[in-house]
Amino acid sequence: MYKISLGDIMDIQKITSLCKRRGFVFQSSEIYGGYEATYDFGHLGAEMLRNLRNLWWTEFVTKQHNVVGLDSAIISHPRVWEASGHVESFADAMVEDTVTNKRYRADHVIEDFFAKNNLGSVSADGSTLEELDELIAKHNITSPEGNSLSKAKKFNNLVQVEIGTLEDAKSVAYLRGETCQPIFYNFNLVQETSRQKVPFGIAQIGKAFRNEIKVGPFFFRTREFEQMELEMYVHPADADAHFAKFKEWCMDWLKGLGISESKLRLRDQEFKERAHYNKVATDIEYEFPFGWKEFQGIHNRGDWDLTRHGEFSGKDLSYRDPVSGEVYIPHIVEYSIGLNRLMLVLLCDAYTEEGDRVVLKLHKDIAPYKAAVFPLVRNKEDITAKAQQVYKTLVAQGISVDWDDRGNIGKRYLSQDEIGTPKCITIDYTTLEDETVTIRDRDTAKQERVHISELTSLIC
Ligand code: ATP
Repeated sequence: MYKISLGDIMDIQKITSLCKRRGFVFQSSEIYGGYEATYDFGHLGAEMLRNLRNLWWTEFVTKQHNVVGLDSAIISHPRVWEASGHVESFADAMVEDTVTNKRYRADHVIEDFFAKNNLGSVSADGSTLEELDELIAKHNITSPEGNSLSKAKKFNNLVQVEIGTLEDAKSVAYLRGETCQPIFYNFNLVQETSRQKVPFGIAQIGKAFRNEIKVGPFFFRTREFEQMELEMYVHPADADAHFAKFKEWCMDWLKGLGISESKLRLRDQEFKERAHYNKVATDIEYEFPFGWKEFQGIHNRGDWDLTRHGEFSGKDLSYRDPVSGEVYIPHIVEYSIGLNRLMLVLLCDAYTEEGDRVVLKLHKDIAPYKAAVFPLVRNKEDITAKAQQVYKTLVAQGISVDWDDRGNIGKRYLSQDEIGTPKCITIDYTTLEDETVTIRDRDTAKQERVHISELTSLIC
């Protein structure tokens, strides 16, 4: 178990304050005092999320001949969530502070207590209610406020909504707890309309909702978040091979985003940690300032999903192999990653302090702006006009570029470093003579002189 030190807290606080100061992430509803664990993403955050969505979709859908996409409804038939097992089993064990009535996830309270009191490491996730009660009693575990705790009880994480216009005819539905269920109940429709043959995959990016007991730190765990999920339908005999391929593929993709390899690891889940539908599960973890934590999972879900949706809907969700004629329920190998959590990984990994500058060393494909354009001085009309021309030419190509003519060049560089802009382009007197500009690199701070016609290829 990882102990949070003051230095670690400082790190996450620095990232939190940078995110707010520069408009990446705001506490939601701030003018109303904020709302627990909900966040709004400002322009820079929205650009970063958009880049990540596009990169993920390009890699896992567009470039794959046997993967197709889906954009499903957030609220589906309530039977979907009964079939998936969420209504019955999508629950965390919760304990209540008997004085303040604050609720905590039982496994987290126990693990934090062990860490705080140097009792060694313990993994309480997936323990039964009785096991949790026993651990709490045996070690006299109290709430973080030092009060005694209630017995552990199950708390369902599905977010319920009431649908319908007539007060007494409203029916209960659920905001989707994960984006993959619509991928499962649409199996037949997608397979037939896209003429895919097993093995093939369906991917979706979208919001999911969970009534989490414990939230944070920052937007690591929230009640509303976005997932990117790819579900591969495979022959049962091929599931292990696909599972192994996913581990390698996903790791390679993450490394390609520039995430430090030393801070990434695969961790196989223990049996008791696994969700009710998983036969095998491996997490990819990142070493956040607050410890090693999961930010994506690779799961072999077996035939659980198609079998259950088949049973609950009364529809046949088996597949007939067009060549061999074999009829079977395809197994599902899943790759599930939280978009917002991935963004937090990238921010933590990129945050660097170098002398008097803070630099977000984001991969150029992820950075909110690919470049910033500056006129050397703002009071010379011909320089400003030329800089505007360069800026407009780049944005007209759909490239995300910032403009800054405030203060001196040094301050502008520092300001762009802090938001991760890889290149800064300065238009000066020489530009007016020979169409060259200076281009300055964020990470090395080196400048070179290049022709305007080279800019697009240098920044994209
Ligand atoms: P955790 O153990 O952190 O609760 P999980 O095992 O329940 O996560 P999955 O159901 O496997 O997570 O979801 C896949 C991914 O979705 C996670 O790896 C994470 O990136 C993201 N995710 C899940 N719950 C949340 C949440 N409450 N807030 C933000 N992201 C989340």
